[in-house]
Amino acid sequence: MSFAQSKWVWMNGEIILWENATTHVSAHGLHYGTGVFEGVRCYETPNGPAVFRLDAHLDRLYASAESCGMLIPFNAGELAEAICQVVRRNDFRDCYIRPLCYYGSGVLGLNPRACPVEVAVLAWPWETYLGAEGLEQGVSITISPWRKFHSSMMPTKAKACGQYINSVLALRDALDRGYAEALLLDADGHLAEGSGENLFLVRGNQVITNDECHSILPDITRDSVLRIARDLGFGVEVRTLSVTELLTAEEAFFTGTAAEVTPISEVDGTKIGGGARGPVTHRIQKAFFAAVQSRDSSYADWLHPVSSQPDALTNGSSLVSNVAHVIPIQ
Ligand code: PMP
Repeated sequence: MSFAQSKWVWMNGEIILWENATTHVSAHGLHYGTGVFEGVRCYETPNGPAVFRLDAHLDRLYASAESCGMLIPFNAGELAEAICQVVRRNDFRDCYIRPLCYYGSGVLGLNPRACPVEVAVLAWPWETYLGAEGLEQGVSITISPWRKFHSSMMPTKAKACGQYINSVLALRDALDRGYAEALLLDADGHLAEGSGENLFLVRGNQVITNDECHSILPDITRDSVLRIARDLGFGVEVRTLSVTELLTAEEAFFTGTAAEVTPISEVDGTKIGGGARGPVTHRIQKAFFAAVQSRDSSYADWLHPVSSQPDALTNGSSLVSNVAHVIPIQ
């Protein structure tokens, strides 16, 4: 992964050079993780680059902000245009997009309400997160000693910046011990999710995953895969999952915007099924890539062409005038 090709960033209504997209060290979000973000992908399609499930990502961004009490000073139409603008201005075909809203510089007491809400959209080319080899061969993972925080501790449904310390700790531990990814259990010891992915198991014709009752982030790839699995004729179950079920599953795979659909080959040295990508995972993976690359018209409504918006911004001009970046204390 490299930022070398990213020249332009959208920040607070303007397209600016990557090197100018900076923030002050007194920013509240930097000290306390007070921010929310999204991870979105844009795929090359025969009709030009298209953002996958842009509306669902924006819905989750606003829901995350709401659960943290943050008001985003741009509406969804403006952020959709900002996202497309960043892809177009950087001339990307396939890329990963990172909208981020955080409390900037104002006060450093814990209450951030007197701080401005800063909004930025970055994009960069990013191959699949767990590696091209992982997509084909599967990845070897470990069950993390870190548990996923419970919804009584943090808003688990929010994609909030500070909460990711939990994922970072779990991933670093896994990498240090030679695994590609960590799988976190929930506070009760049931399966939760990967540090940045959701989990599916396969048994016979059944594709099984868990839900928000197990502290997972309600995710967009998982939702897409549930529909694809049904469309392919598999049975779908959403329920509590145990470690034993994982270790005895015929197949297992991760889903996520960054990781896409990545098979799990081993868990703490125990092979899952044959220890390679299984046939059900392979079919779902193929259908997923056909959908995101617009090779299957049944999923056309999931794709938002980046060229569909007028090229409204020029360098330095403002998409939204009169936007109040300072959210008043309520
Ligand atoms: N769980 C966590 C903790 C994540 O960070 C992600 C990535 N956003 C996911 C699950 C997968 O969500 P999505 O498919 O929406 O990317």
